Amino acid sequence: MNQLLESLIVCPNCKQPFDVKEEAFWRCSKDGFEIPIYEGKPVFTSMPKTAHVYEKIERGPEQGTPWRQANWKFLQEQVQGQDKEALILDVGSGHGDFAQIFTNRKYLAVDIVPYPEVDLACDLGEVVPFKEGTFDLLVLMNVLEHVYHFHKLLDSMFYLLKPGGSLVIAVPFMIKVHQAPFDFYRYTHYTLVDFAKEHGFEVTLLEGYYDPIFFVGESMRNLRFWVLPKLPRFSRWFARGVLMLIESLISLLKLFIGKGYVKSPDLAKNPAAIGYHLVLRKP
Ligand SMILES: [Zn+2]
Repeated sequence: MNQLLESLIVCPNCKQPFDVKEEAFWRCSKDGFEIPIYEGKPVFTSMPKTAHVYEKIERGPEQGTPWRQANWKFLQEQVQGQDKEALILDVGSGHGDFAQIFTNRKYLAVDIVPYPEVDLACDLGEVVPFKEGTFDLLVLMNVLEHVYHFHKLLDSMFYLLKPGGSLVIAVPFMIKVHQAPFDFYRYTHYTLVDFAKEHGFEVTLLEGYYDPIFFVGESMRNLRFWVLPKLPRFSRWFARGVLMLIESLISLLKLFIGKGYVKSPDLAKNPAAIGYHLVLRKP
């Protein structure tokens, strides 16, 4: 088991360290709370029906969609701004899409699914096996839209942060439904700010990622993969030709418009953000 995890983890009921540690389970003798240890990881929650197990996709600063690349840059900046000793918890880390950013950091990864890359499996909206104010930095990268009871999760995030600590969020807005059917929400930035304040946070950063070319490209891919195959043969051939023409025009347009950009939603002329980046601070 991860040493850092072993030093921080507590019984979710009494917040005292587990005192009975066997290979297959841990138990708190004060209240009898017991958790199974699965492949060296504590597993606090039976896998919820709303969990989605997906295959690992290789990610990196230059890999994935433009939104993912913007996420990478944003998160990297936030982590670089942290003290060397800062305790970081990556919540809903999945296969560790951003794990590389946390190299040489005091870092733990948690997900509701016991993926090989996580340190513990736990639904933090339901069970909190850490003491109040444990972490300096909490990370929710493309997670919030997949959490049905997100208010409970935000409460736990506030509880887990040290005063002065930060919660870093990336959440999509104009991005297609993904990991279906476990995709529940799209939030406007007004809602995100309201939720943050409602849960006691201060908003220290809010930016939208805007990318009209990527946005148009998504629509074209939708046409290509979902609409065209259903057309009768001759219409399909004609439509495919038109689509190829449009796609080459879009590539041409990109030469002039350029890549996506990050801007405050209050200053952006294009209101359709691909997604939002937020940094919330616990006062
Ligand atoms: Zn206990």
